Amino acid sequence: MAKVPVLDLNRCSDCEGCLEICPEVFKRNAAGYIEVADLSSYPEDCVEEAISCCPADCIAWDES
Ligand code: SF4
Repeated sequence: MAKVPVLDLNRCSDCEGCLEICPEVFKRNAAGYIEVADLSSYPEDCVEEAISCCPADCIAWDES
């Protein structure tokens, strides 16, 4: 199964770290929230770095 990054926006502090680290995956949507782009596959290194740098610990892989 493809690994897809997911966000827990309830905990997101809107620091924009993920947008800087991995802009091809993390976007700010029209409503002003951070979201995960709809990609067929995700760059694992970049997402891992965003996960480890997120101060709110709200990015995770959904492997279901
Ligand atoms: S790095 Fe984490 S806390 Fe910061 S904007 Fe991204 S998801 Fe939110």
